[in-house]
Amino acid sequence: MAETRSTCPYCGVGCGVLIEHDGQQIINVRGDPAHPANLGRLCTKGSTLHLTATPALTRQTRLLQPMRRLHRGEAPMAVDWDSALDHAADRLAAIHAQHGPDAIGVYVSGQLLTEDYYVFNKLVKGLLGSNHIDTNSRLCMSSAVAGYKATLGADAPPCSYEDFAHADTVFISGSNAAWAHPILFRRLEDAKRQRPGQRWIVVDPRRTETAEAADLHLAIRPGSDVALCHGLLHLMLAEGQVRPDYIAAHTTGFEALAALVADYPPAVTARLTGVPEAQLRTAARWFAESPATLSLYCQGLNQSSSGTAKNAALINLHLATGQIGRPGAGPFSLTGQPNAMGGREVGGLANLLSAHRDLANPAHRAEVAALWGVPSVPAKPGRTAVEMFQAAADGEVKALWIACTNPAQSLPDQATVRRALARAELVIVQEAFLTTATAGFADLLLPATTWGEKDGTVTNSERRISRARAALPPAGESRHDWDIAADLARRLAARIAPERIGLFDYRNQEQIWLEHRESTRGRDLDITGLSYAMLDEQGPQQWPLPEGQRQGRARLYEDGRFATPDGRARFVAQPHQDLAEPVDADFPFALNTGRLRDQWHGMSRTGQLGRLFGHDGLPCAELHPQDLAELGLADGELLRLRSRRGQVVLSARASERMQRGQVFVAMHWGGEVLGGGGINALTSPAFCPGSKQPELKHAAVAIEPVDLPWRLTAMAWLPAEGALALREQLRAALTRFDYACLLPFGREPDAQGQIGRAHV
Ligand code: SF4
Repeated sequence: MAETRSTCPYCGVGCGVLIEHDGQQIINVRGDPAHPANLGRLCTKGSTLHLTATPALTRQTRLLQPMRRLHRGEAPMAVDWDSALDHAADRLAAIHAQHGPDAIGVYVSGQLLTEDYYVFNKLVKGLLGSNHIDTNSRLCMSSAVAGYKATLGADAPPCSYEDFAHADTVFISGSNAAWAHPILFRRLEDAKRQRPGQRWIVVDPRRTETAEAADLHLAIRPGSDVALCHGLLHLMLAEGQVRPDYIAAHTTGFEALAALVADYPPAVTARLTGVPEAQLRTAARWFAESPATLSLYCQGLNQSSSGTAKNAALINLHLATGQIGRPGAGPFSLTGQPNAMGGREVGGLANLLSAHRDLANPAHRAEVAALWGVPSVPAKPGRTAVEMFQAAADGEVKALWIACTNPAQSLPDQATVRRALARAELVIVQEAFLTTATAGFADLLLPATTWGEKDGTVTNSERRISRARAALPPAGESRHDWDIAADLARRLAARIAPERIGLFDYRNQEQIWLEHRESTRGRDLDITGLSYAMLDEQGPQQWPLPEGQRQGRARLYEDGRFATPDGRARFVAQPHQDLAEPVDADFPFALNTGRLRDQWHGMSRTGQLGRLFGHDGLPCAELHPQDLAELGLADGELLRLRSRRGQVVLSARASERMQRGQVFVAMHWGGEVLGGGGINALTSPAFCPGSKQPELKHAAVAIEPVDLPWRLTAMAWLPAEGALALREQLRAALTRFDYACLLPFGREPDAQGQIGRAHV
């Protein structure tokens, strides 16, 4: 037996794990006591990782060899790697020659390692000659990026997890951390136990588990976060709770903001937000007058058509009250994905360049071109996630190369996404799992390694870089994502730009990382003092860590100097605007989506384990009991949710956590479970004009009872060796029914076959 130190591949907390294995099979996993993020703890998802990597499951769900589909609608056939990559290179080169670089879209993932991301970014910007690379981090964090850059000047979360223990007030906005970031929530609970005076304000339309634990729950009207922050600042100004000395010394633009928030007196703010005036006054006082106030925020602010404005409005409060750059104080965005931060660091999005450089800045473009040894990198921003798939649906993008993500489950407006996948002349899916909805659209499937097999680095929410390490050799014929991308890049270069073949001549992931490290020299995220060896010897480190330093910085902006040209933070004065799809007589309910505690995104990994459906095992639409009654529905009956884009049938669930007029459905329920487009058949492709992040948190929907003539519930105990394979066969039948739902339950055997006996 051996133990390999690695990281959890799920959320942005970035917990360290110790993988127990025999070199061929993972036997167990436990929290790494030495990892600063989790100090030995793991949540239900992390602690069951080993069960998702058993040989029995691998045989049933993993993509283990390259496959090519000769005709759409037919089963793919196994091919060898050379044939697969040459075919991809031929087709991409032909499309590049005939239609130009704009006809190729590359869509990657916040679950890739930094080294993988780096190669993909270089391939698109340094070889193909476009910026048409975007990532599922666009669905997750791009509003946080835009908010930080607009106010603080750089995409750098200024806080650390250790700030939880120093905060006197914690302002949690648009985050059900108890479920979405469970180990951080445990740390918060610890902090409150140690500092009984610590107060939590939770802003959320739903009474989530996080809201239930709050000292003050602001049950905000969806979409009114900007009005709330402006209203709080109005009160702070009226009560003399802002810090004029800090504002004068370290910021610009306060006069315009002060003039704007004059329009948000308590009565107006209460009307816009639905939060009673007394609660507004308490929240403003706690936020401004606490010795240290820490904000934690996530998708409730980000996944919005005004996501950048929401982020900036919250950061305004920190700047106006001087609640930043001190222990326990600052605006701290929680990243959804394990390496959304790493993707941002290498510039792996359509509007970014390596090491937080700006595409619009000619000097930055010249620096990146010099680093890569190419004459130039293109200036025109690429298509972001929603734009890329819309362009493919419109016939402008001819080839889609999708790696480590499942857009046929996770993107909004699935009708358009699926039209895009069907219309594209070439769809390459680079994946570990054959079971994703997107894999069903692929012309070419390239098998990638996954957790337990991959080696490289990731960065978590607090800017901490950790090593992901391999415990096992690659399963089947799978290869590392960076290796596939570099190999295909070399073959493509041979066809379109032979002089650039050498750009992708990487021998291992460390060589890629060293190139990335050099790109950060002199930048805000400078890691020139870091090395793989240092990570191995001293453990995970936070950036920046420039040459000559022995450890990274826990907290940014302590000296009041910000990453702007004049060193001053900028207030953003943007009024509350409701850009969201209107709720009206035809679509009277506001649909909100979010996470379940025990599932991860599209469930390609967590959805393999019956035990992870024990906490919440049925796709449901949660409504206030009175709304249900007025619709003539009882708990457990079927209802149809219908938006302007699509529909889905689900079970009704009465929930006192919901406000009237709102409905909540977990984001995980895709076509793999429900048939059709899943919940994202309903969601809106509208996006924030600043961040291009789509509004997954809101869609106007109609609800009606569904009275079907008969209902069948079938259950079977099946051996774990065959249950998931059977599920895949049954999936094909899902779309034949008005309503169908296919879920595993039970408890899987562990690696020694000791626990549980069967699986459905
Ligand atoms: Fe993994 Fe996130 Fe759970 Fe930590 S909190 S074990 S990183 S899913």
